[in-house]
Amino acid sequence: MTIKDIATPLRTKQILEKYKFSFKKSLGQNFLIDTNILRNIVDAAGVTGESGAIEIGPGIGALTEQLAKRVDQVVAFEIDQRLLPVLKDTLSPYPNVNVIHSDVLKANIHQVIKEQFSEGKDLMVVANLPYYVTTPILMKLLEEKLPIRGIVVMIQAEVADRIAAKPGSKEYGSLSIAAQYYAVAEKVMTVPASVFVPQPKVDSAVLRLTIREKPAVDVLDEGYFFKVFHSSFANRRKTILNNLVHNLGPKEKKAEIEAALAEANIDPRRRGETLSIEEFARLSDSLYKSLQG
Ligand code: SAM
Repeated sequence: MTIKDIATPLRTKQILEKYKFSFKKSLGQNFLIDTNILRNIVDAAGVTGESGAIEIGPGIGALTEQLAKRVDQVVAFEIDQRLLPVLKDTLSPYPNVNVIHSDVLKANIHQVIKEQFSEGKDLMVVANLPYYVTTPILMKLLEEKLPIRGIVVMIQAEVADRIAAKPGSKEYGSLSIAAQYYAVAEKVMTVPASVFVPQPKVDSAVLRLTIREKPAVDVLDEGYFFKVFHSSFANRRKTILNNLVHNLGPKEKKAEIEAALAEANIDPRRRGETLSIEEFARLSDSLYKSLQG
C-alpha cells in the first residue's frame, strides 16, 4: 500500500483527528495541504540530494516530508510539544529527518548546524513560518551569519513585499535594507489562503533570500549603520534631516547631521524611503567619522 502525502486535505484531516489536534493560533499554526505548492517551495530552494535543509516549524510534517524526499538530511525545530508524537508517526518513513523540540528564537543554531551537518554542506533554511514571529526569525537567521546558502520561506505577502522592496517604493523601509544588506531578496510567488488549514486572514507569498558572500555595502561600524537607517524611517512623513535630528541623538547635533548629509551628497529634504543602501552607508560613515573626530 502506498502512503499518501501528508499534505493532502484527506490525510491531514485523518492525522489531526487521530491525535485530536487543536490548532494554536498563538503559535501561528496554519498547515499546508497542497503538495504542488510544497514542491514549488522545495524547487525554489535549489537543493540537491547532497543538500541539507533546516526547517522551522514542521507542524505535522507536510513540508518536512517533501524536503526529506529531495535532500540528504533535514533538521527541524518545533516549539509545540504536542506535535512531537505526531511527527514521530508521520515522518517514520524518513530516517533522514531529525526533529528538535525548541523555540527557534532561543536555539543555538550555529551549534545545531555544527552537530548535525558535515562541514561545508550546502545548507538551506526552508519553512512555512509562523506569521507572528516572521521578522524576528528572519533577522536572527541573517544576523547570526549562519553557514547557509539561503532561505526560502512562506510568509505574509505584505512582509515579503517590504523585504524585497526597492528604494522609492512605498513598501521600502528599514526591513528592506536590513535584509538586503545580508541577502538578495526575491518574491518567488504569491499563494492563496485556500492551500492552508486553517486559512490565514492575510495573503501569503514565498520569499527567497540568497545570502551574499559579503554584505551589500562596506561600513565602518555595522551597528551604527543599522541605527542610522532605523532612525531615518522613524516617521515616514519627515525629511531625513528631521528624522535623524529627532531620533539619532543625543550625541549627534543638527549641525553635524547637516554636515554629514552634505559630505555624503544627500539633500537634507529627501525622505528616508528615497535613499539607496549605498547612500545610507555613505551617510553612516560620515556621521560615524564626525563623532570620532
Ligand atoms: N510546516 C508546517 C506546514 O507547512 O504545514 C507547519 C507550518 S505552521 C505555519 C508554523 C509552525 O511553526 C507550527 O508547527 C508551530 O507550532 C511552529 N512554531 C511556532 N513558533 C515557533 C518557534 N518559535 N520555534 C519553532 N517552531 C515554532
